[in-house]
Formats: sequence, structure tokens, C-alpha cells
Amino acid sequence: MSIRLRFAPSPTGRLHVGNIRTALLNWLFAIREGGQVLLRIDDTDLARSTKEYEQGIEDDLAWLGLTWQDKANQSHRFEAYEAAASKLKQSGQLYPAYETEEELDRKRKIAQATGKPPIYDRAALKLTNEQRANLEAEGRKPHWRFKLSGGRKDWHDLVRGPQSIDTASLSDPVLIREDGAFLYTLPSVVDDIDFKITHIIRGEDHVTNSGVQIEIFEALGGPVPLFGHFPLLVGADGGALSKRLGSLSVGELAAEGHEAMAVLSHLAKIGTSDPVEPRDSIAALAAEFSFEKIGRAPARFDPEELKRVNASLLHTLPYAAVQQRLAKLEADRGEAFWNAVRANISLLPEARQWAHIVDGPIEPFVPDAAFARAAADLLPSGSYDEGTWSAFATAVKEKTGAKGRALFMPLRQALTGLDHGPEMAALFPLIGEERARKRLRGETA
Ligand code: GLU
Repeated sequence: MSIRLRFAPSPTGRLHVGNIRTALLNWLFAIREGGQVLLRIDDTDLARSTKEYEQGIEDDLAWLGLTWQDKANQSHRFEAYEAAASKLKQSGQLYPAYETEEELDRKRKIAQATGKPPIYDRAALKLTNEQRANLEAEGRKPHWRFKLSGGRKDWHDLVRGPQSIDTASLSDPVLIREDGAFLYTLPSVVDDIDFKITHIIRGEDHVTNSGVQIEIFEALGGPVPLFGHFPLLVGADGGALSKRLGSLSVGELAAEGHEAMAVLSHLAKIGTSDPVEPRDSIAALAAEFSFEKIGRAPARFDPEELKRVNASLLHTLPYAAVQQRLAKLEADRGEAFWNAVRANISLLPEARQWAHIVDGPIEPFVPDAAFARAAADLLPSGSYDEGTWSAFATAVKEKTGAKGRALFMPLRQALTGLDHGPEMAALFPLIGEERARKRLRGETA
């Protein structure tokens, strides 16, 4: 059996951290199993779906490095949904109901007041042909409900273990609205059957839905895929993800300078038994993926932790991996520069600050002018290399008697304007003799 998964976003917005994670978990399992992923665009809601968002979603997936083997738009498949609906109507599993929203609301209130669960009472099933004809003559259009079995639906969830949904506790779901529009539930099942989807991996907000959809799979005679429902993202404090973080998009993460592999590593590892550390490829994440590692506790999405993951990934990246992007940021100062600064940045755009410090002009910080001037007079001439710094520092130490922090801090402050930063041995040759001389003399350079 060939493994096939699907990622099914609605093109009503760009991808945000929640659906990036859904996509990623589908891809990791598919890659690990040598399977395929279908990108399914859930655009049955013609009013809210746009081609721009669809393109945006494809761009987002491309930026993340997630490539699909097959693509389908639900908006091209209405015939298949109509055919499935006819089949269900014929077998009596899809029935017309005529209640208005107000009538349904009243029924729910009465049920609640009499201590009953607010479940649809199936009054529509008791209508005679004549009553139905009268309602239609009044101008009422039916919506169509799927008749649940009333029994329990059991499955072994890949993440949650044994699951059991009591369909008697649910209202018969509306599959088709009064205006003929298909709601998400039926098209999803029809597609999962037609595209031979073997595994449905999605958030645990769909668990009840899965109980309903399994009955629809069975009613349509399709094989029922395996299901895995993972816990949803929460904030760093364990509370609900804030609106801002929840809507954090691929575009924003990229614009802030995050590495795609840091975003993927973080989202793959949170809520699992693995440490949250960067991996350098999707293949590496896939090799480590397993449903058993996904815990039942929600996964904490913490932007600060993401930044730490990003920083540790940057520290390992060779110059060739970042050169083009450094150039775009106008911060490409060669391999020695990258090797010097990569351990001091969390996000790539921060390299600009160090490029500026190397190039100048900067304002040096010179609290002890006499000391700095003595150092300026000891600057070696000619081109500097990795060994120049220690020779220079030794000469300053011998001349001034300063040592340790009292030696190194004022030199760093004069040469960079800051009291922390990359190894001076690596920065010194990049700053060079001329700028170093001016800065040690307290001049802007
Ligand atoms: N378009 C649906 C959603 O984004 C797909 C859900 C599913 O995976 O079945 O919620």
C-alpha cells in the first residue's frame, strides 16, 4: 500500500504557525515512510477563498522547503461531491431538513431548559411528503443532514491511542447548506477516498469530526484511513496561544530573519519527547519523527525558544549557506567575517550590525584616553591576520602594565564601541590598522 497524506489549507489567509505545524507533521511522516503528500486547497467557500492566498500558501510551503507530489482544488470537484451526495440521499443517509436558524435555536433552548442535551431532534425525518411539499411551496429550501448511526465509532488513533466517539451525543451534521453550498465535512471525505489518502494527521480539534467522518467514509463505501490527532499549540506559559502568536505567518517569520529550518525544527520538536534543538534538514527531522514521541500535553510555542533554536542553527552554518542572503542584507564581508560573527547573532539580519562595526564609521568608547593613545602607538603596520591581535595585546600589556579585563575591555570598547562581541582576534584584521588607529585616538571611524 503506498502511503499518501494530504495537507488541506483553506485559501482564506496565509499559513500561520498552527497550520505550518500540521503541514510539517504530515510531511515528516510521509518522508519517513517514502510516501506522498497531496496539497489539497479547500476552496469550496468561493466567497472567502482567493487565488492570491492559494499562491501565498504555495510560496509559504516553498520557503519552508515542503514540496508536494500532487495538488487538487476542491472548487474543481463539485461534480464528485454532487455524486456522493446523491448516493447518500438514495440510501436515506442524507435527508432534507427545513428548520430556520431561529427554529433550531429555539429547539436548543427548549432542550437545555428541560435538561436534555442540545441535539437536533430529527423532526425532519418525520415529515410526510405532503408536509415537505408544503414547506417547499412556502419557499423554504432544505439543508441536508447526514444521519448518524447513533452507535459508537471507535478507532485506534496514531497519537491518542484508542478513541471512541458516541454519535448519539451529536446532532446529525449539516453537509449541504440551503444555498446548495457544501460544507467542509463531505468534500473532505470524498477527496480522501478519491485521492487514496491513507493517513489523516491533524489537530485534536478534529477528533469529534473524525467520528462523524468515519461514518461518512463507511456510508460511501470508501476505505477508512488511519487517523492521528496531535495536541494543539499553546503559548509559552501553557495558556491559549495569543492572537498575535497564533496568527504569526511564514512571511513574518521570514521577514524577522528566521531560518526555515529553525522554524521547522522548533515546530517538529515542541510537544515531543525529543529535545528542542535544530536539525539541518527536513530529512533529518523526518528520520527522527514518530507518533509515539508526540505527548498528550499541548505543545508550547515560545518565540524566545524559537530564537534560541535559530541562534544555535546559525552558529553551525557555513559561509556558503548564508552568503547570498548576507549579500541581500548588505552584510556580506567574506568568510572570515561570517565565521567571526555567527556565534554572536540570533537572527541573520543582526549580522548587519557587525558589518557596520567592522566598516565604520562608529563612535569609539574611550574612557581612558592616555591608555588608548599608548595602544594606538603600538599598532603593528601592514596587513593583519589571526595572530596580530595577541601580539598587539601583549605589546600593550608590556607597555602599560594593564592585564586581564583591564587590558582587553578598554581595547574592545575603543575598537568596537561596545563591551561585548565576537572574538577580537577575528574582528581585528577586519577592522584593520587605519580604522583601529583612529578609534584608539577617540575619532569616529
Ligand atoms: N481545511 C480544513 C482545515 O483547515 C482541513 C481539515 C482536515 O485536515 O481535514 O481545518
